[in-house]
Amino acid sequence: QTHIFWFRRDLRVDDNAGLFHALKSGAAVRCVFVFDTDILASLPPADRRIAFIWDCVADLRQRLQAAGSDLHVAHGRAQDIIPELARQWNASKVFANRDYEPAAILRDEQVAAKLAQQSGQLELFKDQVIFETDEVLTAAGRPYTVFTPYKNAWLKRLTPFFVQSYPSQNHLAQMDCWQTPPSPSLETLGFKRAHTALQGGSEDADQLFADFMLRITHYKSWRDYPAAKGVSYLSTHLRFGTISIRKLAQFAWQQGGEGAECWLGELIWRDFYQQLLWHFPQVVGNSFKEEYRQLEFENSPQWFAAWQEGQTGYPIVDAAMRQLKQTGYMHNRLRMITANFLVKDLLIDWRWGEAYFAETLLDFDLAANNGGWQWAASTGCDAQPYFRIFNPVTQSEKFDPEGKFIRRYVPELASFNNKDIHAPWLAKNPPLGFQLKRDYPAPIVDHAVQRQHALQLFSKNRS
Ligand code: FAD
Repeated sequence: QTHIFWFRRDLRVDDNAGLFHALKSGAAVRCVFVFDTDILASLPPADRRIAFIWDCVADLRQRLQAAGSDLHVAHGRAQDIIPELARQWNASKVFANRDYEPAAILRDEQVAAKLAQQSGQLELFKDQVIFETDEVLTAAGRPYTVFTPYKNAWLKRLTPFFVQSYPSQNHLAQMDCWQTPPSPSLETLGFKRAHTALQGGSEDADQLFADFMLRITHYKSWRDYPAAKGVSYLSTHLRFGTISIRKLAQFAWQQGGEGAECWLGELIWRDFYQQLLWHFPQVVGNSFKEEYRQLEFENSPQWFAAWQEGQTGYPIVDAAMRQLKQTGYMHNRLRMITANFLVKDLLIDWRWGEAYFAETLLDFDLAANNGGWQWAASTGCDAQPYFRIFNPVTQSEKFDPEGKFIRRYVPELASFNNKDIHAPWLAKNPPLGFQLKRDYPAPIVDHAVQRQHALQLFSKNRS
């Protein structure tokens, strides 16, 4: 008897819940990954994510081959390929880990329906979060829409059971001994290699985590400073499942102390937004708060382009946007600053910014990105109030006090002193030879003026 394990956003052999259940089922297990044309069709050829995933899949395949088995790497529509492989291999069950995005839920329903027609079954498991769907609800049985009570309920519910590992790696002998044709190259898939700051595969994830474990006690005090090595940089690995969320949550929970507790809080935010997306899929493309669905944004294409290119004249915003473009990563504090700036200084629809991040971030995750944007735009469930408007200059002075981060990504300002670098247009004595507008843009908007416009925009829609 053969069963299939279908890898999706869980690209690892170790501590993989669905793989563990497949291997324990007693059947010979064949593993499959599909480069899904439904997803690939909308992506540019140099998309960093595809290069990253391709490396993860190559790493997975090597690991499965080392265990005497193989990984079948297909290219096409998953809805067609998975049922077809099940038919060819006479596999009655397909195992996979649950995905909470609306498009993935639809895809899985279609796969399950096709499998059912041939007397097969799709079995899904919780793997990418600690608590899923409706595992953490209010006393009235409703989903939480405010983070702090959700976090408290989450922590109350946590027992060693929820963070214990599913040691799939110990049962690899249960896999079928088989060989499949070579994987499609990146070029065959229609993509080319793009530079990624991170290496795909579990080894890189484990190294990052090992390094972070040494720094976790400082997390609370360092995490807001983009020039410091304060955060874990694990988001991409969490997104693609090259590291187990249970391993990370277990470590943070057991470790305790200010830094680890604060970091565990971030992992809880991740669960929070996943359950929110599952309960309220309408947040895709819509404000969570109904009163903000008709906001009349100005949507200037020129300002949007300046924001994307890191040419707004606000150094911290520009440094952040250039970091994103060059590396596919942006520090959390900077995501908050740039998102606030787009919505409340440039008066541009948060969905434009959300879409740009979705195209550019290596760690792009629909739930976290939508949640983050709606938080910054004040349209989300537990968002910052609309009248809280970040001042990009004071944020810069506070979180990049020596301008180290700015200097890294906006080299044309490198010789400014630590005070003037945050607002070069105000500098009384700019560095010799520097000319505003020629060497670096003047601010495209006046923050004080735009702040008033934003307040009007939002207050018009207050019920
Ligand atoms: P750490 O500080 O080390 O945090 C550990 C992990 O916790 C992260 O890897 C991530 O998985 C999770 N996490 C941390 N903060 C959040 C949060 N606010 N919401 C959900 N999960 C969180 N995160 C993404 O993974 N993908 C996105 O597409 C994404 N888009 C964002 C857009 C905006 C506008 C904002 C404000 C935040 C967004 N975030 C997103 C959340 C956060 O910025 C990143 O998770 C974090 O910067 C990743 O760096 P790290 O792994 O070093 O984080």
